[in-house]
Amino acid sequence: MLGMIMDYPLTITCLLERARRLYAGKEIATKTEGGRHCYRYADLYERVCRLANALRELGVRPGDRVGTFAWNTYRHLEVYFAVPCSGAVVHTLNVRLGGDQLAYVIGHAANRVLFVDESLLPLLEPLREQLPTVRAYVVMGDGPLPDTPLRPVLRYEDLLAAASPAYAWPTLDERSACGMCYTSGTTGHPKGVVYSHRGMYLHSLMLTSADVMAICERDVVLPVVPMFHANCWGLPYAAAMVGAKQVFAGRFTQPPDLARLLQDEQVTLTSGVPTIWISLLPYLQEHPHDLSRIRMIVSGGSAVPPSLFTAYDALGLRIVHAWGMTEMSPVGVLGHLRSDMLGWRPDEQLGTRAKQGYPVPVVEVRAVDDQGREVPWDGRSLGELQVRGPCVTSGYYEDERSAAAFDDGWFRTGDVASIDAHGYIQIADRVKDLVKSGGEWISSVDLESAIMGHPKVLEAAVIAVPHERWQERPLACVVPRPEAKGSLTAEEIVDYLRPRFPRWWLPDAVVFLDAMPKTGVGKFDKKALRAHFRDFQLA
Ligand code: AMP
Repeated sequence: MLGMIMDYPLTITCLLERARRLYAGKEIATKTEGGRHCYRYADLYERVCRLANALRELGVRPGDRVGTFAWNTYRHLEVYFAVPCSGAVVHTLNVRLGGDQLAYVIGHAANRVLFVDESLLPLLEPLREQLPTVRAYVVMGDGPLPDTPLRPVLRYEDLLAAASPAYAWPTLDERSACGMCYTSGTTGHPKGVVYSHRGMYLHSLMLTSADVMAICERDVVLPVVPMFHANCWGLPYAAAMVGAKQVFAGRFTQPPDLARLLQDEQVTLTSGVPTIWISLLPYLQEHPHDLSRIRMIVSGGSAVPPSLFTAYDALGLRIVHAWGMTEMSPVGVLGHLRSDMLGWRPDEQLGTRAKQGYPVPVVEVRAVDDQGREVPWDGRSLGELQVRGPCVTSGYYEDERSAAAFDDGWFRTGDVASIDAHGYIQIADRVKDLVKSGGEWISSVDLESAIMGHPKVLEAAVIAVPHERWQERPLACVVPRPEAKGSLTAEEIVDYLRPRFPRWWLPDAVVFLDAMPKTGVGKFDKKALRAHFRDFQLA
């Protein structure tokens, strides 16, 4: 017997229409070159309609891929809605990709139109001969069209001004594609993930639920995570669904700008990778700001060291750990404490908060060992983490690597994790980052999280280096705090770790770096570290 429920497609258009009807007066603010741009959801709606008409004029048809090469701004948000709601697919390009990779993903996705921030034109211009699929470049900026060799080139504001503010949104199949994003692996080209309207709708609803981020109308949401990183973790769509005020930092994400913005816009929820919070911390400690409205800082993308939780706790700011992947739309688990943990000792609570968290409503998890057996939820047994759910990808876009990414209907994350009796997962490592010493695994994440607890350490990453006897051994790469440069020693680091780990886990060597190499989305770039220390000789 079938359920007797309306066949109502879950689409991004529903979110847009809802924002217009219910939250027309709520604000969307963006930090700009000269100051601040602020308008309302009603203005967003009108400009999204204009943009949808302009896209039609540009020859964009349902299913076509439209690229964005842009920072977090209200214009980027307009593209986030106009493209999928008119039936096309918004492809957010990582502005930090190298030229060849960028040309590859634009070509692989066959982008027809590219929306480019004026300040980013110099990154795209040298590639113009390598982008045969692109029929038009649209420059997003405030001034006149800049001088550029890109052709044909159009000005975003001119397109909108010439277009009608009325648009009849098409009825879309909820399973149709709304967006895509490429994720970089250790080897080979980036892999394309294609999102559906239904998946994004459910993901938005999930983010608003009380045990996830509880995003609601009263919130002021500032995603520091770039809009090109996995749908900005779904925040712009979720915020629109509930009419939360949205704040965008533009390209101004340095600590002084961020602190000001968080304070002045009275932000309640913000999100970003740990490197953002690591760099903001000393600034906040030296320059107190009134951030009392913030109720949650969501930190994900790589592991949050326990010391970062406590440092922010001391400022009255609560970091909540999150784990996810581009392939999961992206949020998978969140590290809230449960009611029965609230009476626990602070160190026990910290231990649980430092785990990545337990699955959100649309995600199922399991960890599987080398023999393909699910490992018990005992908080100790390690296995490859696998996930499934309505927001998880079913394969990479036109990519033969898809088949290897699944195990009996579950997506293989490539992360090694344990799951405890409460369902909290703890990521030990990426499979490829584990240090395999004498047949045993050492978690680089555990080691580097601990090292970052040392008062003289700013950032730390641990990589495997070859070892004759043990096959691989850990090498700690450490960036000291500015005041400790030159005085911090390898012995101090190892002594600090000694009481915390078995002896055979201790790094064989510690090297000091001036700066940590970072990936395009701001994570520590272990691939670059491994390449740099490929021939490192352990004593
Ligand atoms: P991305 O697709 O760029 O978001 O990268 C996803 C990968 O980042 C995951 O497979 C993990 O390896 C890593 N990751 C994301 N969040 C966390 C976290 N909270 N702790 C540790 N690793 C994380």
